[in-house]
Amino acid sequence: MAEASQHQGTAIAAGVGMGKVYIALTSEKNIPLRHIDAGECEMVWDLLDVARCATIKQLESIRESTTEIVGASDAAIYSTQIAVLEDPEAFNRIRSWVFDEFYAPESAVQAYIDFMCEQFASMEQSGLRDMSADFTDPWVLVLREMSAEDLEHAQDESISSMILVADELTPTLVVRYPHKKIAGIVATRGGRYSHAAILARSFGIPTVANIDGFDDLARSGQHCIVNGDTGEVELNPSEKHLEAANELALQRVQLKDRLAKHATAACETADGMLVPILANIESPRDFKFFNTDTVAGVGLFRTEFMYMDTDGFPSVEQQESVYREVLKEFSGRRVVFRTLDVGNDKQLSYLKLHDEQNPALGMRGLRLSLHWPDIFIIQLQALLNASADGELDVMLPMVTSVEEVREAKKMFNMIAGDAAHRVRFGVMIEVPAAAMALSDIVQEIDFVSVGTNDLAQYLFAVDRDNPWVANLYQPYHPANLRVLRSIAKICRKSNTPVSVCGEMAGQPEGAFFLVGCGYDSLSMSPSLVPEIKAYLREVDAKPLFKLAMRATHELTADEAFRLLRKETQLVWQKMLDS
Ligand code: PEP
Ligand code: MG
Repeated sequence: MAEASQHQGTAIAAGVGMGKVYIALTSEKNIPLRHIDAGECEMVWDLLDVARCATIKQLESIRESTTEIVGASDAAIYSTQIAVLEDPEAFNRIRSWVFDEFYAPESAVQAYIDFMCEQFASMEQSGLRDMSADFTDPWVLVLREMSAEDLEHAQDESISSMILVADELTPTLVVRYPHKKIAGIVATRGGRYSHAAILARSFGIPTVANIDGFDDLARSGQHCIVNGDTGEVELNPSEKHLEAANELALQRVQLKDRLAKHATAACETADGMLVPILANIESPRDFKFFNTDTVAGVGLFRTEFMYMDTDGFPSVEQQESVYREVLKEFSGRRVVFRTLDVGNDKQLSYLKLHDEQNPALGMRGLRLSLHWPDIFIIQLQALLNASADGELDVMLPMVTSVEEVREAKKMFNMIAGDAAHRVRFGVMIEVPAAAMALSDIVQEIDFVSVGTNDLAQYLFAVDRDNPWVANLYQPYHPANLRVLRSIAKICRKSNTPVSVCGEMAGQPEGAFFLVGCGYDSLSMSPSLVPEIKAYLREVDAKPLFKLAMRATHELTADEAFRLLRKETQLVWQKMLDS
């Protein structure tokens, strides 16, 4: 039996999962070098060859249909592509990487693509250099075919309790495979606040990232334990460790069941302070996945997903119907609709933005709405129409200055006229400049919600989705904690309701800190609601004020987090023991 090995990574999504390693094949670009065992070569080679033959068949069929439409000479390109895949030299080179160097099949194909690119790049004539794609594209198709076959394979009944292992934690990785079969995820690289991490937490998949070379070390079928609470991962665990992990997982399930029973009750700290817990949602489809009675309303409706779901801008009527559906579901409760927040990593296929060097610092969120007022006005009109049966909250994303808020409100007042009072206007604080100008901004608005995910990204100048700098993204760094505390203070002073809808609100340590700072409510992924409510019910609010202050006085993120963690651990143990 293979030797057991323990690894420490970053805990991304809580829970304990056990199962067998399943090497995920999701990336079609820059596939990393991964090795296999000598005994796997034959099987792996068969897989690669099946994908190569299937690609040749597809190209033959495309060649046939293209010949019918545009004639044989224009369809000749497909013959060239087929010839590339049948080239014995390419075939032997790739084969040797698999059988002599023990490259994984996708790594061997990637190595060949890289090799060809290098060959062409060194050629003197630019005409020849430009031909490199003709020789590499067919192999990219093979990679795609392998990836499709991999997905089909994952559907097989014999596959269950998968521990997905990948080079990078990406949104595709999290949503691609059948959820019921995924027991855990381990990625060599990945950020705790990336969109992929948010998804993993929403789906409740125990996830760990940042274990160097793990995707090269792990082998398909090996037993693996993933502890998303501590960041520990064990390959080839002993029976004893498997039993212990099983026990932990069982304990979690039982606790979850217990928490679910109390999840609909209001959230009140042990000394009686009410902390409304709201949900972050993206579509009325989300109602299927959680009990909407567990929350005091919606603290963040990410309207951009409605835009991303269609092939063109949704009309006033289409939008109004979605907004009404949400309002109906949460009738009598607060619902905060965030206006369109696209740009950067969230793009609309039908809205071509200029190429930007730094899209995270470019045309996104409110900036885009103010730049294209037609888009914004349609959304505001739809929100206003939907408010006819009651009040609603509209929240502006990526606000930087008081002028922007004034401009947005001016547009709204223009279309709303006497009906403007039906809508409360709020802003997201995600840009440090807006946090600094908050005492001016609050004069213009009715409420504030802090987007801690982006705020930390802009405060630390660290891309939240870039795994290479994930270690520098530190929401618990005292610098960030001080900003968060100052936001709460300014809002309290001006009697402006203030909430947090970034990921920190859904983490026990974050929730303790934010309540301690004086935030009125917290909004989070619905799957986290029962647990956060349970944590807050177990503590007195008063000591949290002191705790929050102490955390802001620490020197490092590690120290501040450990301080908060000490308190949450005590509560966690209490919950387990009760
Ligand atoms: C945030 O930035 O914290 C936030 C809630 O917005 P999003 O994650 O959608 O960017
Ligand atoms: Mg944001």
